[in-house]
Amino acid sequence: MTAARTRRFDAIVVGGGLAGLAATERLAARGLGVALVEKRDRLGGSSAMSGGWFALSGTAVQRRAGVEDADDVFLSDMVDAGGGFADPSLLEALVAGQAHAVAAIDRADAWTDELKVSAGMTIARAHLVRIRRLLAHLENEALAAGAVILRDHPADELITEGRRVAGIRSGRAVIAADAGVVLTTGGFSRSRELLDLFVPDQAAAMPYGGVGNTGDGLRMAWMLGAGLADIGHVAGTYGQHADATDDEHELLTANYLGAILVNARGERFADESESYKVLGTAVLSQPGGMAFQVFDSGVRARSRPGVPLSDMERIEELGHLASAPTLSELGHRVGMPPGVLERTVGQYNDSVAGRAADPFGRAGLVNGVGALAPVATGPFYAYPAVTAMTSTYGGLSVAPDTSVTRIDGSRIEGLYAAGEIVGGFHGASYMTGTALTKALVFGIVAADRITGGARA
Ligand SMILES: Cc1cc2nc3c(=O)[nH]c(=O)nc-3n(C[C@H](O)[C@H](O)[C@H](O)COP(=O)(O)OP(=O)(O)OC[C@H]3O[C@@H](n4cnc5c(N)ncnc54)[C@H](O)[C@@H]3O)c2cc1C
Repeated sequence: MTAARTRRFDAIVVGGGLAGLAATERLAARGLGVALVEKRDRLGGSSAMSGGWFALSGTAVQRRAGVEDADDVFLSDMVDAGGGFADPSLLEALVAGQAHAVAAIDRADAWTDELKVSAGMTIARAHLVRIRRLLAHLENEALAAGAVILRDHPADELITEGRRVAGIRSGRAVIAADAGVVLTTGGFSRSRELLDLFVPDQAAAMPYGGVGNTGDGLRMAWMLGAGLADIGHVAGTYGQHADATDDEHELLTANYLGAILVNARGERFADESESYKVLGTAVLSQPGGMAFQVFDSGVRARSRPGVPLSDMERIEELGHLASAPTLSELGHRVGMPPGVLERTVGQYNDSVAGRAADPFGRAGLVNGVGALAPVATGPFYAYPAVTAMTSTYGGLSVAPDTSVTRIDGSRIEGLYAAGEIVGGFHGASYMTGTALTKALVFGIVAADRITGGARA
């Protein structure tokens, strides 16, 4: 290292989204000298763009809503959502560490009372949190405790002393860390190269997520022999308008409120209660890589203005929701062949009424939960949506204490990872809200691991 350029801290956190801010705040609060380096001119990453849904069990919000949940049900739902591919030791650590997330949200006063069942859940467990308030709180607390936050500082390389990670290089600057480096650089949803390499079947998904999320942390850790988990399962999320901007996502899951999905020909093609990741892959192979969420006035009345994934008002304000008094007019308006939409809806309504079996096996609103209703009362609506690569849930293999592990399972000394960069939690699919919970919980776990290590 070139001494003149080297700054020295106890710990370095690389990437300023939720996981990075949680780790930085905790490290600083525990009295360590910590630098958070962020590639962009602003903090937040995908976390700041997100819907703010956190999966948590046994909370005060659930109790107030009369929802009975338990940690073992949360755990078994996650195992099921991941198709048995997720690492149970990581899922157990997530459930055990929930109290960290709850305490952090409490301190930031960022709760809302919004609670719902969403993808992968058998119980209302998705909690809407004021995510930007939480991020701002963590940043302010970190600064108040003495953390140094360096924007416009992309980490380019991990520096080692022997086999131990001892710092990073950012441009010409070298920053040394005595106790550890935490990678919280998010996923690779903005890297065409890595998406093509690992999940070429997802190539048509709309690139989304934090603009800086190009897999830098993954590449730096690979150079040291880090292993990978779940990376072939990465899939896009269905439900985004093709014209959505980086400033405002337009994800809508009206299907979980009772809408059906039909392709550009007016035909159904999937069980709409499935995870939006499973639907994302199914939609990529439909004509034009898109599908409409088609619903009636009953579903429209269930819109929740301001609530991500359920806000139809906002989609309508943006001019992206088509409507018509009859199904025939709606089909015509969105360019479907005449007569098909009416026939598709008629068949769906027959299966809802029990007159015929549903050809795709739909048995509930979401994940088999919630009573279905016919699409029957006009006006009728159609939201054209595509699959967006919002996040890439496969990544580095880690131990439950966030230590990055090599392919042979040994730990890379001094290197920790938390948040979307990590694989092994989600397996084949994803429960809504587990990405943010994971970022918050394991950011804190990484800090505690380093603090313990520093004191030992
Ligand atoms: C539109 C949208 C909605 C979502 N909604 C939800 C939801 O409701 N619930 C849920 O659980 N999940 C949701 N997700 C996923 C979730 O937001 C992310 O998985 C999570 O926020 C990741 O947090 P993170 O801290 O790991 O990464 P990020 O928040 O993405 O932060 C990573 C940071 O690292 C920085 N960085 C990258 N490379 C470098 C480098 N070389 N040097 C320094 N810094 C670097 C990036 O610029 C970025 O600031 C959503 C995602 C999107 C895009």
